[in-house]
Parts: sequence; C-alpha cells; structure tokens
Amino acid sequence: MNSRRNFLKKASVLTLGGMLASESSSVLASPVNPLVANNKTLGLQIYSVEKEMYDDLPKRFAQLKEMGYVNLELCGYDQGKIRSVDMMDFKKMANDAGLVLKSSHIEPYIEGHTNPLLLDYKREMMPQVKEYWKRAADDNAKLGVKYLVQATMPTCMSHERAALLCEFFNEAAQICKDAGLQYAYHNHHMEFERLLRPEDVGKNKNPWTIPGDQIIDLFIAGTDPSLVVFELDTYWTVRGGSDPVDFLKKYPERIKIMHIKDTSVLGQSGFLQFEKIFDQMYKNGIQEYFVEMERMRDGRTQFEGIKDCADYLQKASFVR
Ligand code: MG
Repeated sequence: MNSRRNFLKKASVLTLGGMLASESSSVLASPVNPLVANNKTLGLQIYSVEKEMYDDLPKRFAQLKEMGYVNLELCGYDQGKIRSVDMMDFKKMANDAGLVLKSSHIEPYIEGHTNPLLLDYKREMMPQVKEYWKRAADDNAKLGVKYLVQATMPTCMSHERAALLCEFFNEAAQICKDAGLQYAYHNHHMEFERLLRPEDVGKNKNPWTIPGDQIIDLFIAGTDPSLVVFELDTYWTVRGGSDPVDFLKKYPERIKIMHIKDTSVLGQSGFLQFEKIFDQMYKNGIQEYFVEMERMRDGRTQFEGIKDCADYLQKASFVR
C-alpha cells in the first residue's frame, strides 16, 4: 500500500503538478486518478465486482471509469436483463458514465435444464439451444457488444462429445454472425484436461503414459475459424498446466481476446508472467482484454481490488 501511495504521490507531481487529492483521502473518492492520464484502454469483466456493483450502478460505473476502465464485458445476461436490471437501462447507465459495453458472457440453458453448468448436451437439444442463442444474440446486439461469449464448458468426456460440442459452437457462432456479433469461447482449466484418443480407449495401459488430446485443442481444431474465436483466460490456462504465452504462439489466428487474471489482484502472486503475456499479445495483434478477479483474500472490497489491478496495468511499462 505504501509503495502505491508513494507512486501516486510522485505521479501527482509529475503529471498534475500536485493537484492530486491528499494521501489521506480515499482512493475511490479521489476526484482525479493521475494514472488514467496514460490513456490505456482497460477492460473489465464485471463478474469481478458484481456482488458490489448493483447497490448503486451509476455510482459504481463512475468509479470504474475513474479507475481507468473503459470497456466492460458483461455477465449475467438472461432474457433481456443483466441480472435483475433491464438490459437497456443497464446500457444507458454504463454509457452515461463513459463506459463501452464490449462483450457479454452467456451461459446457455434450455427449458428443464436451468443450471447451465450441468447442461449435458445431446444432439436433440440443438433447436432449443439455437433458440437461446438467437434471443441472446439479438438482445446483445441491441446492447452494442462486439463479442458474445460461451462462458463455460459443457460436459466433455470423449472425442465424440467434443465433436458434438463443436457442432453446437459452430451453430451458435453462425447465429452470432447473422446478428452482427463475433462468437468467442472462454476457457477455464477443464479444457486443458486430456481425453484418451478413441484408438486407446479400452486398452489396458497406464493412463498416465498415454498422451491423449487436450480438449482445448479439439475445440480449436473442430470449430470453424471463420466463425469461432477464443478468449484465453490467463489464470485458468496456468491452472490447467499450460503456458498462456505458448498458447498465444500456437494459435495466433484463433485467440483474439484475453482475460487478464491472477489468483487475486494482478501481479501480486508471481503466478502469472504478465510482461511476457502482454508482449506476445501485442505480437499477435490482440487489442482487447478484460481484467478479471476472483474474490479478495485480505478483507478489502472487490472494488478496492480492481482499483489495484487497474493501477498495476496503468503503471506497467509493458502495457500499452
Ligand atoms: Mg475468465
């Protein structure tokens, strides 16, 4: 905390001639954030703060803008609402604060399967799933987002299932394209699990010595490159045992957006090598990324945490 305050103090002298509010004032209440003068376009996945933001959306949106966030990626879309807020009211409040709705995560579900995380896709569900995507795509087009994102992996335990899921992803992506949106798929760690190849299933071998195929590779190979792009989550990629930089190098044409995520506040764990990740992102031409943060672990609020995340990126020389 001290180093951050010292930095803010120095920055105030360098950029604003000492106009910054005193050190003792609340960071969130500070009328001017000198770091924002860097003009970096930061994005935020609102999942990071959604347990705190709905108490007063206009005020919370203004705070996000003050921190330097510009682009928002939504979660919680369902049937014309973002959580319990009418989606067009949500858009207006965000836009009024100077924020741009850039992307939206959805969790497709169908009647009788209300928990999307438990949705076990079967081919006969295709019409209903497409119906969900059509409504979601039309609504999110009205919100003005660029990306509509499959947020979570449906159950996938075999190559056959992976191929079926790719059919669903391609169909959803075509619906998005028809609505003027780009479909994207967002990973967690499960996509880095390996599936026994069909020719190895049933063989009495030590499963640890059979290489298998990573689900994420099957998804990338099995989806239409003209329709489906991927949103790589840095934290979940590392948790899955892979290196985000390697993945960016492997799939420069398929990974187009990023979740910049650490174990909690960015840059504090040492678990993620963000300088190398940003270097490779820029080499790949990736412009859009969203900060995402799980819960704070030091008793402070989520809003205080994402303020630290924003400051970390604003101060980082490797972030342009
Ligand atoms: Mg994520």
